[in-house]
Order: sequence, then C-alpha cells, then structure tokens
Amino acid sequence: MSLIQVKVPDIGDFQDVEVIEVICKEGQTVAVEDSLITLESDKATIDVPSPQSGTIRKIKIRTGDKVSEGSLILELETTGDSAAEQQKPSEAVDQFTDTKPSTAIASPTSDSFSGSADMSCDVLVLGAGPGGYTAAFRAADLGQKVVLVERYKRIGGVCLNVGCIPSKALLHAAKIIAETKEMNEHGISFGKPIIDIDKLRDWKDGIISQLTGGLKHMAKQRKVEVVTGFGEFVDEHHLCAICNNENKTTINFKHAVIAAGSQPVKLPFLPNDPRIIDSTGSLELAKIPKNLLVIGGGIIGLEMATVYQRPFQKRISKQYDNIWLETRVTKVEALKKGLKVHFEGKNAPKKPQMFDSILSSVGRAPNGLNVGAENAGVEVDENGFIATDTQMRTNVSHIFAIGDLVGQPMLAHKASHEAKVAAEVISGMKSFFDARTVPSVAYTDPEVAWTGITEEEAKTQGIAYGKGSFPWAASGRSLSLGRSEGMTKVLFDEDTKRVIGVGIVGPNAGDLIAEGTLAIEMGCDANDIGSTIHPHPTLSETVAFAAEAYEGTITDLYIPD
Ligand SMILES: Cc1cc2nc3c(=O)[nH]c(=O)nc-3n(C[C@H](O)[C@H](O)[C@H](O)COP(=O)(O)OP(=O)(O)OC[C@H]3O[C@@H](n4cnc5c(N)ncnc54)[C@H](O)[C@@H]3O)c2cc1C
Repeated sequence: MSLIQVKVPDIGDFQDVEVIEVICKEGQTVAVEDSLITLESDKATIDVPSPQSGTIRKIKIRTGDKVSEGSLILELETTGDSAAEQQKPSEAVDQFTDTKPSTAIASPTSDSFSGSADMSCDVLVLGAGPGGYTAAFRAADLGQKVVLVERYKRIGGVCLNVGCIPSKALLHAAKIIAETKEMNEHGISFGKPIIDIDKLRDWKDGIISQLTGGLKHMAKQRKVEVVTGFGEFVDEHHLCAICNNENKTTINFKHAVIAAGSQPVKLPFLPNDPRIIDSTGSLELAKIPKNLLVIGGGIIGLEMATVYQRPFQKRISKQYDNIWLETRVTKVEALKKGLKVHFEGKNAPKKPQMFDSILSSVGRAPNGLNVGAENAGVEVDENGFIATDTQMRTNVSHIFAIGDLVGQPMLAHKASHEAKVAAEVISGMKSFFDARTVPSVAYTDPEVAWTGITEEEAKTQGIAYGKGSFPWAASGRSLSLGRSEGMTKVLFDEDTKRVIGVGIVGPNAGDLIAEGTLAIEMGCDANDIGSTIHPHPTLSETVAFAAEAYEGTITDLYIPD
C-alpha cells in the first residue's frame, strides 16, 4: 500500500481551468478511471479520472479553484493488488512511500537526496517562533506526526526571546518609572528610581524562561519532536538539520511548513562596533547609555526609544531630546570618545553629533533565502519573501510558508493565525487565511493602535467614509489615570454603514483595538457598537462614544449641528 499524489494530467492546451465539481470525497474508495473532478474551460468540460484504485486520503482542491497540468488534486492510498499494473507511468502522478515512524528510512523518490533519512514525519516545521510552534502544535492536535526544527536551543522565536515579550517587560518598567514621576504632580512623591540593571535583566529573562519552558513542555505533551539545528531543504521531501556544524539529522517529510521568520536589516555603512546595537542587543540591557541615537522610527525603534528614554518630561515629543524626521544617517565614525554621526536631510542637524550608543532599527528582512528553499523548488523573491496562496501553500503544493517571511505586517498574531491555517489545510480541513484586518500596535507611551483602513487610505481608495471621534479629555476613566491626550476614532463606510477602520491613541490602546477588529470582522455598524453596553468608567467606553458621535446619539459630548 502506498500514498500517491494525483495531479491534473495533460489536458491539452489549457491553463488555469476552473474546477466546477469535486466529485469524490475524502475516505471514498475509487477504482481506476473513476471520475475525481470536473474541469470546465471555455472550450470543453473534462472529467479527470483516477489513475489507480484506492482510498482517497486528502483532497487538495475545491470547486472554483483554477488548475493547470501538474496541479495537485488529491492524495490516494492505493490498494496493493493491481495497482502496479494499473498505474500508467505518467507525469501526473508522483509516488512516495507512506513512511512509518522509524529510525532509518530509504528515500525512494528524491532526485537529489539518495541517502537514508534519520527521521520521518507527516509535518516538518522549520522555525519555532509564534508561527512555527503554533503550526506544529495545531498539526499535532489534528493527529499529525510533527517534527519542529529550530536552530536555537530555546523555542519561541524572535517574539518570545528577543521581541514582543522582553520588549513589553522593559516597557512596563519604563511605564512604572514614568507614572511614579507623574504622581508627583498629583500629591504623591516617590524617590528617584534606583535601577538595578542586573535584577531587571533577571526579571525579564525569567519571564522568557517561563514562557519558553511552557512551550517546551507543551511540545512534549503533544509529542512534537523538537530537533535543534540549522535546517536546510535537501529536496522537496527532505530537510537536513545541522547542530554545532557537525551533528546532522536528515528528516523525511510529507508536508513542510517554512516558518523561519526574519532578522534585523543591517545598514552597510555602520562600523562593526559593540556600541552599535540592534533590537536584540538593546533588549540585553548590557548597560544604559548616557545618550542613544535610534535610527528608524518604526514600531520597534519607537518602543526601544521609550524603554531607554531619560526619565522623563512630558509626552512623546518631549520624551526624546530630538526627533529628526526626514533625516538620513549617512556615516558613522567609531571614535574612542564616542560615535560621530553624520546626517543629511530637511531637518538634519547642521554638524555631526556624538552619541554613546546607536540602536539601528531600520526594519527586518525575511529569512526565505537562508533555508535552501531552492532545493525543494520553492520560489523565493530577491528580498527573501515566499509567496503563498490563501491556504498558505507555496508554489510546491505540499510545502507551506507562514509568518514574517510571507510578507507584511510582520507581527506575531498574523504568524500564528497563518500557522493554524497551514496546519489545518495539511490535515484536510478547508481553512483559509481570510482575515479582514490584522491589528497593529505601537506599545509606546501613549500607545498607538489601528485596525482596518486609515483616513488616508480611505481617501486614496476613493471610499466614501464618515467618522466618529471621541477625545479622551472627556473620558472620566482617562482623566482619573492622569491622562487627557488620548483619542478614539472610528471610520464607517457611508454606503454600507459598516466599520472599516479604527484608530486609538492612549494608554492601553493595544487592548482596546481588539473591539475594533471584532467589529470589522463581524461587519458591525455604529448602532451595533453604540448599543452594546460598555462598562463605566472604562477606556472601552471611548469606542462606543466614537460610534455614538458618528450616529449623532452621543450625550457625553456636545457636538453642535
Ligand atoms: C523588538 C521586537 C519587538 C516586537 N514586538 C512585537 C509585538 O509587540 N507584537 C507583535 O505582534 N510582533 C512583534 N514583533 C514581531 C514578532 O516578533 C514577529 O512578527 C514574529 O516573531 C514572527 O514570527 P515567525 O514565527 O514568523 O518568526 P520568528 O519569530 O522570527 O521565528 C523564526 C524562527 O525560525 C528560526 N530559524 C530561522 N531560520 C532557521 C533555519 N534555517 N533553521 C532552523 N531554525 C531557523 C529562528 O531561529 C526563529 O526562532 C517584534 C519584533 C521585535 C524584533
């Protein structure tokens, strides 16, 4: 008995022909020449027959898909008896052994890999970030035998080890410093903070250990085998993981999920100097520099600037000594007394400036070019991104890609949602990544969060929109937190009246934005939000008040006609 991939055979001069019917079902037994699917072009309707008898295990297409010669239709477990005679050697059928868990397995079909594999699995996941571990865990929960390959000893990827979690721990520390200072103005004074950097680092590292330890435990509970090593594809069914440049493990897989993430972009002109760090270096908290230049004003740059800011004056523009927009760093000289930085641009300082340290935060590059994807026939663009369809399939139908390396936004929650889709599709479910929006949050002070489209985007796209805004200066909850600068804005499509975008600035905006995302997914209108009773006094009321402002039913503000 073996598992074969049934593909669209040579159907003449047809490209992108529509599947108008999937005749067969998973689990169904078919005989040779039984019709599997019906295709329809503008010239003909064609039934694709089964090349062998057997049981259909997984159907890989659905009605409405467009297919061409070679497109994968389904996986068929053939019956051993007459299959050999019945099968016509055809380019439309790829055969591979239905591998059972064992220690050494021959690789019968690989062109380029002729050795034996050390392990075999249903699903190989490369990279153990939020994309990779979610894919691995979901696939295991759906009954797949999963191997997870990660180059580092600790799983969790950028997010848990050097990204979302440690940055939020340090942002929390910065927030406490800021809030205690602010309470001075309201009658409660604390002393100047004494920062024990070693203790602070231990606390942050403890959170990482707790979370990554939890993941390790959950991998064990799910029987997900974690292999430590740098993984590269050898061919389209094998990956080799190399640990410490010597221990090689070759893994045979039926399906793979590439979840190798991204890495910080390096500016070519920056000298190699320990005082120049990236986000990972800045989270290590080696020391707190007296002055720090942050190159790059994206979310990560802003968050790290918030962590390292000098305690503390007023809100954002006053938190930093200077914000130079439309300014380019052109040269950095590593001198003994400091880093001499040259600038160019509209708002650039006239003379070079000296800094103790530089945090380079100019974006992240996907790791698609570093995984041997070409050996498996997976297409990677020149920037390292891997294109997928909405089921997270690459151009090689049994290899999937998710997370940072499939495109923007490079966010952990996007990666984990894509991961579930990939694992479910591999397991035969009809899942798609069809989220209407992916929310974004800058955990600065104040936090900035948005979901759906912005006003600028609505204008560019010619969408007729209306908006409701609520200034937090009118929110009792915000004022009782000592904050008055926040704003909640909700955009509505004037035709459908549905929410199309939400923007929130203020403390905890990142938590509040989830309601906006749910509203967009559910197709809510202003009345749905305004009529939903929000607890008082909370910041969440500002979302309802913004909807009421759009509807004209608000009583917590006076808006003249
Ligand atoms: C400072 C910082 C703060 C951030 N804050 C947030 C935030 O608040 N919210 C948010 O949503 N996102 C945040 N992000 C982004 C978030 O971390 C990423 O979007 C997310 O980690 C992407 O997940 P991923 O699974 O695609 O890849 P990654 O997390 O990058 O994981 C990929 C894994 O693959 C491994 N790997 C790569 N190549 C190989 C190979 N050849 N062999 C073996 N293993 C390999 C890597 O070691 C890594 O562990 C932040 C990022 C940074 C840097």
